[in-house]
Amino acid sequence: MSNYLDDISSERNPLLQEMEQFAKEKNIPIMELNGIDTMLHFMKIGNVKSICEIGTAIGYSALRMVSALPGSTICTIERDLERYELARKYISRSNNAKQISIIFGDALEDEDKVAKSAPFDALFIDAAKGQYQRFFEIYEKYVVPGGIIFTDNVLFKGLLEEKIEVIESKRTRQLVTKIARFNDWLIKNENYETVIIPTGDGLAVSIKK
Ligand code: SAH
Ligand code: MG
Repeated sequence: MSNYLDDISSERNPLLQEMEQFAKEKNIPIMELNGIDTMLHFMKIGNVKSICEIGTAIGYSALRMVSALPGSTICTIERDLERYELARKYISRSNNAKQISIIFGDALEDEDKVAKSAPFDALFIDAAKGQYQRFFEIYEKYVVPGGIIFTDNVLFKGLLEEKIEVIESKRTRQLVTKIARFNDWLIKNENYETVIIPTGDGLAVSIKK
């Protein structure tokens, strides 16, 4: 299903295509095309203008967001120096560079730096999968009431639908257990209305009450 939807996804400019190619070659987990299309659609419907992103990687999703949402701004944080520098380089080549501020740092430690750009209409959590609940709990306070929190990779390659015993790697099993716990916590969280959409690698969309 996903390949078909990726194939018919709307065209991206040469810079974005170059980034997609680079990410593929270097195994950098940028968001899947149909997943990002879905998220951008929600952002348009929700009239999202200010965004906080946890996990920049090379800046692909950040660029997709600002180019899809005229007048929007993003504050995005990345802890890997090499990726942070690549993101800066790619973003500087875009016409939308002014809309993006990148922070080099660990989202679990550098809340203060991100908070300077708050409040946000949307929060996009796309970093270390084992820490989702912590990211959520640190940054939810910077999202306006009625705002949206997106969490990527919550279906983790379909592994949440597998019996845990059939997953060979212990590390993967632990990660699946953590994501399952997060999803459960999120669905039951009464401060949000959440739906998990099987798009891309699984996208949770939570509306803040
Ligand atoms: N959002 C990007 C992909 C992000 S991949 C896109 O779709 O284009 C996840 C990134 O999160 C990795 O580059 C990783 O280095 C970063 N990351 C993981 N944990 C982090 C943390 N605690 N703080 C900041 N960045 C983190
Ligand atoms: Mg992701």
